[in-house]
Amino acid sequence: MLPPGSTIGILGGGQLGRMLALAAAELGYRCHIFAPETDPPAADVSAAHTRADYADTAALSAFAQRVDVVTLEWENVPCAAVRQLAGQVAVHPGAQSLEVAQDRMAEKQSVEWLGGRCAPWAQVDSREALDGAIAQIGVPAILKTRRFGYDGKGQARLHTASDADAAWAAIGQQPAILEAMVDFAHEYSVILCRGADGTMVDWPVPVNLHKGGILATSSLPPPALVREQAPAAVALARTVAEKLGHVGVLTCEFFACRDGLRFNEMAPRVHNSGHWTIEGSETSQFENHVRAVAGLPLRPTALVNPRVTMTNLIGDDVADWPRLMSDPAAHVHLYGKGEARPGRKMGHVTRLGK
Ligand code: ATP
Ligand code: MG
Repeated sequence: MLPPGSTIGILGGGQLGRMLALAAAELGYRCHIFAPETDPPAADVSAAHTRADYADTAALSAFAQRVDVVTLEWENVPCAAVRQLAGQVAVHPGAQSLEVAQDRMAEKQSVEWLGGRCAPWAQVDSREALDGAIAQIGVPAILKTRRFGYDGKGQARLHTASDADAAWAAIGQQPAILEAMVDFAHEYSVILCRGADGTMVDWPVPVNLHKGGILATSSLPPPALVREQAPAAVALARTVAEKLGHVGVLTCEFFACRDGLRFNEMAPRVHNSGHWTIEGSETSQFENHVRAVAGLPLRPTALVNPRVTMTNLIGDDVADWPRLMSDPAAHVHLYGKGEARPGRKMGHVTRLGK
């Protein structure tokens, strides 16, 4: 067990790092953020910030000397950086989790290999391959870059085969997959945490509503179809965590279809659909992630109220802060970001009970 007063290094400086640092502080740890941005939200609440590129090997080495363990809040940290750090200090989760989660194709192949079901998909490495994939998968479909997609970025929808040129151009002609459009009833996510000793806990499963490819709300209890599918989804996510030797929070997103569940994607980290756990669960995803990384036992995850809703504040939504701050039922979290650009996650609000 990492003694209180130790320093946890966090790769990435966004709101997830900020909430991890706050949870770490409660347990008596200090955090050191490694991120290339000038003024990252996580650095505001952390003991130290190294501002450097993930390819800067000298900066990584100096960072490793100043921290006792390393974790991450952004899964697109280059694996080379994680491997370099792992030569000097423990890194949780490790490169294996990152390698799979950074590549949509590896992600889907791994999950299918473990018996999970995804939307039908095909590999697309060229414009010609896209024609073949359309013939195989059909339309409507979504072309998704294999790497660096988030909040619906790096995706283009094809309504007919004649959309192929535009879609290929829209994703920047990168290695991709074509995925059949799924006619889902709901979306939900399994958030689990695996400790250093292999012990796992998972949280009650929220239903997630997206608008324009961006998460809008996560709420509990989920509809009956999701409740029926949750045990199988949790079992699959636990198997994935086990096989990856994952340590920390792992999130898997699913589609609830009338004919059963389909895996969508995973994130080897704390997740926006788990923010409600701060007030809605006995232990937040952030605290249990810190506990896992620090080698502490994990704490229970039961709901403290049967009804919980988390609403994201995206872009201009945050302008409503005076009303939200004055609402005694609203647990307001703002991320300290400057400009409220469209689509930017500025904060979230959690409400318990009716
Ligand atoms: P994030 O990182 O925000 O979770 P992302 O950009 O990595 O998102 P996805 O989760 O793959 O991308 O897609 C974003 C949203 O687009 C999904 O939550 C879902 O609402 C919709 N979507 C993605 N794939 C499909 C599909 N095959 N069929 C129907 N809808 C889909
Ligand atoms: Mg997603």
